[in-house]
Amino acid sequence: MYAETQTWSPFKGCEFDCTYCGPTFKAQAKRQMHNCHDCYMYTPHNHPERLSRIPNAKTVFVCGNADIKFCDTDYLKLIIEAIRNNKREGQTFYLQSKEPACLEPVLDLLPENVVLVTTLETNRDEGYELISKAPPPSIRYEQFVKLDYPRKVITAEPIMDFDLAIFAKWISTIEPEYLWLGLNSREKRLKLPEPSPEKLYKLAETLIKRGIEVRGKTLRDWPMPEGLNRTQG
Ligand code: SF4
Repeated sequence: MYAETQTWSPFKGCEFDCTYCGPTFKAQAKRQMHNCHDCYMYTPHNHPERLSRIPNAKTVFVCGNADIKFCDTDYLKLIIEAIRNNKREGQTFYLQSKEPACLEPVLDLLPENVVLVTTLETNRDEGYELISKAPPPSIRYEQFVKLDYPRKVITAEPIMDFDLAIFAKWISTIEPEYLWLGLNSREKRLKLPEPSPEKLYKLAETLIKRGIEVRGKTLRDWPMPEGLNRTQG
């Protein structure tokens, strides 16, 4: 039997410094103090000894505690080769970046069981530099749309205040297989500019009406429209 989801980390680390990463991925990395100093510091680095150790899970998050934008393209090709050579059936690999243009050089190498993912927490660029050093949402959106690849997923988590018409249009234009929608899961430790519950309801409702699957995650007790797949929280 497969586990449902596991992270496979032949590359780790990131320099985008998202404010919400500290309490999540970086906190996990700090547990590696005695194993790998670069993991502990979240410095981008390779773990080639893991290339052949793909987890036995139905869904594999590739380099989940990292952003592959910081991964050298030649090494990224080795990661993709490991996926291509993997003989297990029924597995899906999620490859994620907040700078999706970094995937352009490898698009032709991707097998059908790879899904590309980017995060869009909002459509608003203004003030985003206080949240992350990643490309602002508008640039990230443009890069993701431009990728000529049929399988895409968007993570709108942790969701931040947005302009309903623009944000819904962006998501519809990308035509994702589905959208993860989630609130800030560390609200006591970190304040983010959140939309009102009514606005978030409207976004989910608009997308569902347009035929986009919306999967909810960490939505507290906020009301959500019928048709939203609330998986946790
Ligand atoms: S892009 Fe991802 S891994 Fe990098 S700092 Fe932000 S949340 Fe953390």
